[in-house]
Amino acid sequence: MRLTKSDFLHYLACDKSFWLSRHKPALYPSSAPDAYGQFLAKQGDEVETMAKRVLDGCDFQQVFEDSHGVYARADAVRRHGDESIDIYEVKSTTQSIRDHINDFAFQVVAARRSGEKVNRIFGVHLKKEFVRDGDIDPKQLIKITDMTDDVFAVVPEIETLIESALALLAQDRIDEAGCDCRYLSRSNHCATFDYFNPDIPDPSVYTLPRMNGKRLAGFVDDGRYDLADIGLDEVTDSQGRVLEAAHNREPVVDHRFLAEFLNTCAYPLYFLDYETISYAIPKLDRTTPYQQIPFQYSLHVVHSDGRTDHFEYLAECLELPQNLIAHMMRHIGPQGSVISWNKSFEMSRNKEMALMYPEFADFLLGVNARMVDLMDVFAKGYVDIAFNGSTSIKKVLPVMAPDLSYDDLAVGNGTDAMMGWQTFIAMEDGTWRDTLCDDLLKYCKLDTCAMVRLLEEAQKINALAN
Ligand code: SF4
Repeated sequence: MRLTKSDFLHYLACDKSFWLSRHKPALYPSSAPDAYGQFLAKQGDEVETMAKRVLDGCDFQQVFEDSHGVYARADAVRRHGDESIDIYEVKSTTQSIRDHINDFAFQVVAARRSGEKVNRIFGVHLKKEFVRDGDIDPKQLIKITDMTDDVFAVVPEIETLIESALALLAQDRIDEAGCDCRYLSRSNHCATFDYFNPDIPDPSVYTLPRMNGKRLAGFVDDGRYDLADIGLDEVTDSQGRVLEAAHNREPVVDHRFLAEFLNTCAYPLYFLDYETISYAIPKLDRTTPYQQIPFQYSLHVVHSDGRTDHFEYLAECLELPQNLIAHMMRHIGPQGSVISWNKSFEMSRNKEMALMYPEFADFLLGVNARMVDLMDVFAKGYVDIAFNGSTSIKKVLPVMAPDLSYDDLAVGNGTDAMMGWQTFIAMEDGTWRDTLCDDLLKYCKLDTCAMVRLLEEAQKINALAN
């Protein structure tokens, strides 16, 4: 059986999941790449094309394969007169290239096993600090890092692990009862967790937020997965709220928190949500690799007399956000709270835009100073086990306001919005473009409409206590 680099990295991430994907593919939850997956692949291709321009004299997509099926395809190889080679691996990342050391070591082992003499290996990646200014000079964008010493140091270990992966692949059976992620929080579980752990109830100890470390290990070692078997004195405050909601089979309400939160909200209330896009290779001057560029916002304004206004902006082409900011400045006044969900996202975009446009900095940073996070209400003030231990608006809304739903929307989440907008700006004028425009506007509008409604629900719950 062939062992590719992707297989090996899968094996390193999880041997059981790797084995299942190869021996019982029908049971392995996988899906064809969606529009976002294709978008990311295209970004990778663009980085590779750019990298080729700085790798003169290399052969590209060089394959190494040995008689045991160890198979690698190097992005670029430079051959020397003494028959040795240098390997170049392209990564569309601005993060530490050292995160890919196992990946590089696999290439070296595969090359050696196919009879090559590897001289050096380099990581080819993006400079985080690159700022586009006109046509891109690849030498300014692309960084080449010599990884040879670090990679050669781990090669013996990787050779052993490759043998282990090949041995596992040859096995017809493995112990399918349980898996190591029982000791890790839900965010670490892959899609095969349920297959290997059919005995875990739902909800379970993994439904509790940030459940990990020694606390989780204790419950796993005791075999206590059911929330009914866990005491409130054994968990943190935030976990306790979810646990209590499960025990009582009714929402847990912290009236003091709710009252304090609502008191901090000053009218008019501005409910704000951005949609953004980012590109590995900056497409606009003044932007950096992977910079988030807001292309759309929705704003609901609720006045103290109950009147509600709605404003929105959708860029018609790829552009810097100065028009979006100017549009917002016409509708967000100097007084009143700005309400968002998971406010760190909107605040980060505002800080970035303030750096790009010092002339708008007072406005943008002023918005941040007035921003409150409605998500906190459903993390601390009102917790229902039906949220499934999550504070995502997509989990909270169906419970609190089932009449408002994302399900029927053609654009139903942030990724859809990003991909839809990519299509939208590339389309000719016409009915299809108009329809897509409507779909994009409806989605972002529902995000802020949902926040308006959720705040109203919080107000009603608070009123009941008074
Ligand atoms: S959930 Fe289980 S199968 Fe999935 S990565 Fe974790 S240990 Fe592996």
